[in-house]
Order: sequence, then C-alpha cells, then structure tokens
Amino acid sequence: MTSTTAGACPHCGWPDHAEPFQVVSRHATAAGHTVWIRCGCGSLQVRVVDQRGMRIVSRSRPPAPDAVRARCGSAGP
Ligand SMILES: [Zn+2]
Repeated sequence: MTSTTAGACPHCGWPDHAEPFQVVSRHATAAGHTVWIRCGCGSLQVRVVDQRGMRIVSRSRPPAPDAVRARCGSAGP
C-alpha cells in the first residue's frame, strides 16, 4: 500500500515532484507563495512554496467523479 500523505496524486498517480500539469495561478504570501495546480486528471491542488520547500496543503477531487468513484466512494460533494 502506498502512503496517502504525499508523493503523487491519489487520483491518477501524477508525481508531485514532476512538472506540474498546469499552473492555474500563483499568489504571493508573506512566507513565499501559493500555487494552484491542475493535475492531469483534473484534480486541483494547492501548493505552498516557502524557504523550506514545497508542500501540498490541499487537493480536490477530479471534476468527473465517475472516472475515479471506485477509489474514493466515501467522499462527499
Ligand atoms: Zn491527478
């Protein structure tokens, strides 16, 4: 079993260390910046980049739940 904390998109397996599929927007913060990224599967993720590096603080589900419903059936809308 794989860890759910980090490493890759839980929906399509896109590695977090790989080139982002699409950078949606980037916002400067006091500590660094926040980057919104759309994954190859359509899932939106929010990354915080600061002096300590990059970490993912939020992930959404893909917009077409039919494609992945078998993997996250308990999640609400
Ligand atoms: Zn994905």
